[in-house]
Amino acid sequence: MTIPTSLTIHEAHRLLAKKELSSTELTRAYLSRIESVEPKVRALMTVTSELAMKQAAAADKRIADGDIKPLTGVPGVIKDVLCTRDARTTCSSKMLENFVPPYDAAIVEKLYADGMVLLGKTNLDEFAMGSSTENSAYFRTHNPWDLQRVPGGSSGGSAAAVAAGESVFALGSDTGGSIRQPASFCSIVGVKPTYGRVSRYGLISYASSLDQIGPMTQDVEDAAIVLNAISGHDERDSTSMPNPVPDYTRVLGRDLRGMKLGIPKEYFVDGMQPEVDTAIKTAIKKLEELGANIDWNVSLPSTPHALAVYYIIAPSEASANLARYDGVRYGFSCQDAAGMWDALEKTRQFGFGPEVKRRIMLGTYALSAGYYDAYYLKAQKVRTLIRREFDAAFEKYDALITPTSPTVPFKAGEKSDDLMAMYLSDVCTMPVNIAGVPAISIPAGFGGSLPIGMQIIGKNFAEETLLRIAHAYEQATEWHKQKPEI
Ligand code: GLN
Repeated sequence: MTIPTSLTIHEAHRLLAKKELSSTELTRAYLSRIESVEPKVRALMTVTSELAMKQAAAADKRIADGDIKPLTGVPGVIKDVLCTRDARTTCSSKMLENFVPPYDAAIVEKLYADGMVLLGKTNLDEFAMGSSTENSAYFRTHNPWDLQRVPGGSSGGSAAAVAAGESVFALGSDTGGSIRQPASFCSIVGVKPTYGRVSRYGLISYASSLDQIGPMTQDVEDAAIVLNAISGHDERDSTSMPNPVPDYTRVLGRDLRGMKLGIPKEYFVDGMQPEVDTAIKTAIKKLEELGANIDWNVSLPSTPHALAVYYIIAPSEASANLARYDGVRYGFSCQDAAGMWDALEKTRQFGFGPEVKRRIMLGTYALSAGYYDAYYLKAQKVRTLIRREFDAAFEKYDALITPTSPTVPFKAGEKSDDLMAMYLSDVCTMPVNIAGVPAISIPAGFGGSLPIGMQIIGKNFAEETLLRIAHAYEQATEWHKQKPEI
C-alpha cells in the first residue's frame, strides 16, 4: 500500500496500534518524501536516516510487545537548537557546524522514552535570531505554500517540514514568536507553553528568561499529545516549574459556552494587512457562534512598548549567553591567529553571522556600566508593567484573541534590508514571552493562497483552556485540512 505522508500523530498512532502499519514502513515513507520534496523546501539541516530506521525497528518491537504510547513509532523532527547526542546540533551557525553534543536535551530524552522516531534536525535563523529563516548560515528554507516566500522564523525549518509532509510533527523554540509566527506562515498549529512548563535543559540558550520549547503540529489534538510528552518538572532546569501535568487531550471536544474572550485593540496594529484583519475578525465571530462571550473593547496599553523591551532584554541575555563561543571550549576555533586575543576575535568574527553580531553588540551596549540603568533596568520595569496588564486581563477573561502576525508570509529578501520591518513580524507574539504566559497559533484562513494564523493567549499554566478553544474552532472550520501542493 502507498502510505500517505499527511498523517497526524493520532491517525498514525491508530494505524500502528492496530498493526495496519509498521513504524518501519511509516518511517521509510517519510524518508522518501523528504528525498523528493527537500530539494525544493530545504527544511532540514541534517537528515538522520540511519538513526530513524533503527528507532523505527525498536518501536516495532516495542509495539509487538504490547507497549505503545501515543508517540511510539511516530516520525518527527527537532529544531537544531536542541541537543541530540546522535546528531550534530548546529543552531544553523558556522560556530557549531560540527558540534555533536555529549548529551540529549531533556525533551529529547522524553520523546525517545515515548518511542518517537527522529527523522532529522531542522533549519533555523542562526541561534534562533530572526523571523524568516533567512539568517541561517547555510541556506534559506522555502514556504511550502509558495516557494518564493519565507516560512517565518526562527523555527521555519520545523514549520515547513510539517506543512510539506516531511514529518508528522516537529519541535520548535520560541523566544519572541519563533514557534507561533512560522506556524502561522505555514498554516500549522504552534504552542508556546508557559515559561517553566517545559524543561530548557539541552536547549541552546538565546535569551534564557524568554526561551520556551513547544510543539508544532498539523492539528490541535497532536499539539496536546506532544505537550503531554514534553511537559513537567526537571531539576536540571532551575526555572522549570513543579506544577502537575494534566492530560492535555482530555479537554478536547468541550464547547465554548460560558467562555469569556477579550480582544485587545493594541494588537490590531497600524500596517496590518487588511486580509489578516478580516480573517481574524471573522474567526472571532466564529468563536462567538460557538458560544463564547466576546469583549471587543479590551485594552493593554503597554503593548506598543513590547518590541522595544524585547530588543533590549533579548540581546542583553544573548550577549551573555553567546560569550561561551570563544574557540576554546567547543565549536569553531580559528587556528590562524597571532595569540589569544587575536584567536578569540577571529573565531567570533568568522563563526557568527551579521544578525548574531548585531545582537551581541546591542546587548553588550545595553548592559555596559553607563547605560545599564537607562536601557536594561528600564526595560525590566516596563516588562513588569506588561506582565501586570496581562494579570489584570486574566482576572476578567479566560483568554485573549489576536492575530499571530500582522502579515501573510512575505517574499524572500523583501525585509532583509529593513530590520525594523523584519522585527515587526513579531509584534503580536513578543508580549507573550515578556509576560511568560502561554499562547497558541492556529490556522484561521488565507489571504489569497497565503496562510493566516490566529493567536490565543492565556494565563500561566492555562494551556488546557487554550487547547480547548483552539480545538473547538478547528473542528468548526476546514483550514487545517488544506495542504500545500509542492
Ligand atoms: N524574531 C524574534 C527574534 O529575532 C524572535 C525569535 C525567537 O522567538 N527565537 O529575536
